[in-house]
Amino acid sequence: MPSQGEAIIKCKCPKCREGDMFETSMFRNYFNVKMPKECPKCGQTYRPEPGFFFGAMYVSYGFSVATMITVGVILYNFFGDPDMWVYMTTVIATVAILWPIQYRLSRSIFFNVFGGVDYDPSVMKSSKG
Ligand SMILES: [Zn+2]
Repeated sequence: MPSQGEAIIKCKCPKCREGDMFETSMFRNYFNVKMPKECPKCGQTYRPEPGFFFGAMYVSYGFSVATMITVGVILYNFFGDPDMWVYMTTVIATVAILWPIQYRLSRSIFFNVFGGVDYDPSVMKSSKG
């Protein structure tokens, strides 16, 4: 059985940890971040309440801050503290390139940790399969 950390990293349903939270794999279609209405394996809804994933923005914000700090530290230490516009451009470009990863991970973390859905492997046997 997959651990919660594994389910988060792989963007799996918090209930069965087998169904995908997103319609396509990040490696197949990087910019497609559509989610189905419910888990394709166990039927767990992916819309627990209206605006639920608004909260994932806080997780995403954390990722963005971490990205800014990381890029800043790398530029400062390995590229000899360049001009401010270099910092700005590099941070914006990095965040823009990484947003689909951030988006998926933020939603996965938020749903798995704060979604109020407990892991229940028995749903796989008893549900419509
Ligand atoms: Zn599921």
